[in-house]
Amino acid sequence: MSRETHTVAVVGGGASGLMAAIAAARAGASVCLLERQNRVGRKVLATGNGRCNLSNTTVTEKNYHGKNPGFVNTVLQRFCVQDTLAFFNNLGILTTVEDDGEVYPLCAQASAVLDALRFEGQRLGVQTVVGAEVNRIVPGTQGFTLVHEGPPTEASAVVLAAGGKAMPQLGGGESGIRLATSLGHRLVPVYAGLVPLKTDCPYNRQLKGTKVNALVTLDIAGSSTLSQRGEVLFAEYGLSGPPLIQLSMSAAEALHYGSKVRLMLDLFPEWDPQTLTDHLQSRFEKAGDTPLEQALIGFCNKRLILPLLATAGLSGTASAFSSIAFASRLAAVCKAWAMTITGSLSYNEAHVMCGGIDCADVDPETLQSRQVEGLYLTGELLDVTGDCGGYNLQWAWSSGHVAGVQAAQSVFKRG
Ligand SMILES: Cc1cc2nc3c(=O)[nH]c(=O)nc-3n(C[C@H](O)[C@H](O)[C@H](O)COP(=O)(O)OP(=O)(O)OC[C@H]3O[C@@H](n4cnc5c(N)ncnc54)[C@H](O)[C@@H]3O)c2cc1C
Repeated sequence: MSRETHTVAVVGGGASGLMAAIAAARAGASVCLLERQNRVGRKVLATGNGRCNLSNTTVTEKNYHGKNPGFVNTVLQRFCVQDTLAFFNNLGILTTVEDDGEVYPLCAQASAVLDALRFEGQRLGVQTVVGAEVNRIVPGTQGFTLVHEGPPTEASAVVLAAGGKAMPQLGGGESGIRLATSLGHRLVPVYAGLVPLKTDCPYNRQLKGTKVNALVTLDIAGSSTLSQRGEVLFAEYGLSGPPLIQLSMSAAEALHYGSKVRLMLDLFPEWDPQTLTDHLQSRFEKAGDTPLEQALIGFCNKRLILPLLATAGLSGTASAFSSIAFASRLAAVCKAWAMTITGSLSYNEAHVMCGGIDCADVDPETLQSRQVEGLYLTGELLDVTGDCGGYNLQWAWSSGHVAGVQAAQSVFKRG
C-alpha cells in the first residue's frame, strides 16, 4: 500500500481548514487537506445568506462564549481582523463594512471568498483530497498516520479542523468530536446555537409568517438579562429573525443547564407605556360601538390584533374598554408580550454548535493540543462560539491561521 507523506495534514476543508492549509503552505510546509464531502467549503457558501459575513470590525472576547471565553484573545491578536481583511484583499477580495461592523465581500458573493481560498491553496501546491473521511488519527514516533478510505496519509503534524454538528446537510457532524475525544481531549457538552426558538405562545400557528419590528428581552430564571431589537418572524414552532437568533445563544445555554427562560416582546419600543395607554384610551373612546378588533386597525399588524386582545383578556366593543384600566392592560401586553421559551430547533437549523473540545486541553499561544504533541485544533470544534455577525468566521480564520503556521513551524523546529 503506497502512503503519501506530508509535513502538515489538515482534516476538514471548511473555513478554518482552508485557512490552516494556506498558512502552513505559506510557511513552507507540504500540505495535504482531507475533506470528507465531495467538495470543500460547502458551509462557507451558505454563510451570510450567500453573501458571507466574513468578519466584524468590533470583535472582542465579549463576542465569544464557552467555558473559557478569554481563550480567544491570544489567537485573535495573532491573526486579527485587520490581518484577515489584508489577507482577503491580497487575494483580490474587496470588502465593505456594514451596520454593527459586519464585514462582507463587496461583490456580495460567498462563492468568491471560497474561490479565492481554493485558488490560493492550488497556487501554493496544497494537495486537496475530497471524499476522504478521516476515521482515525494515529500518533506515532515520527508523526501521524491518518486512516481514511484508500491508502493512509502520513504527516509530521496534523491540524484537526473538522467543525461541529451544526447543519449536517452542509457537512456538520460528530466526526471531529470523535477524533479529538478518542485522543484524550475532554468535551464540554454541546448543543445547537444561533438557532430559532420554540415558544409556548398559543397563537404561533395563526401568526406564522408575520413579521414585526420589536425589542426582544430575554428573562433567564426571573431576571431580565439581554435585549435585542430588530425584525421578529413568527413561525409555527415559535420565533425567528435576527434578534431571536442573536439571543438564542444565551437562551439555549440557559435551557441546556435547566433554567426557566422567558422572553418579552415590546412591539412599541419607541413609545413609553403612558403614551401608549393614552393613545389606546382615546382610540377606544372615539371608536364607540365598533368592535375592538376593528378599532385597532392601523394600530399594529392586523394579524396581531386578535392575539393581543385575547392575551389582554379583552373582547367586545371599543366603548366598553375606554377606561384607563383597560387601555393600560392592552398597553402592558404590547410593551411586554411574555412567552416561555420551551426549546430550540435542532442542529439542522442551527448556524453553530455551542460547546466542543475543552480549550483547557489546547495551548492558546499555538493551538497545539496539550494531550498530543504535533496535533492542532481549530474553529467550531473547540468550545468557542461567537455571536451572530461575522464573529464565527473570524474565529475560523484566526484559529486556522495560527494553527497552520504553528504546525508548519513545529515540524521545521523538530528538524
Ligand atoms: C447557514 C449558515 C450560515 C452562517 N453564516 C455565517 C456568517 O455569515 N458569518 C459567520 O461568522 N459565521 C457564519 N456561520 C458559522 C460559520 O460558518 C462556522 O462557524 C464556520 O464555518 C466554522 O468553520 P470550521 O472550519 O470550524 O468548520 P466547518 O466550516 O464546518 O468545516 C469543517 C469541515 O470538516 C469536514 N470534516 C468533518 N469531519 C471530517 C473528517 N473526519 N474527515 C474529513 N473531513 C471532515 C466537514 O465536511 C467540513 O467541510 C454560518 C453557519 C451556517 C450553518
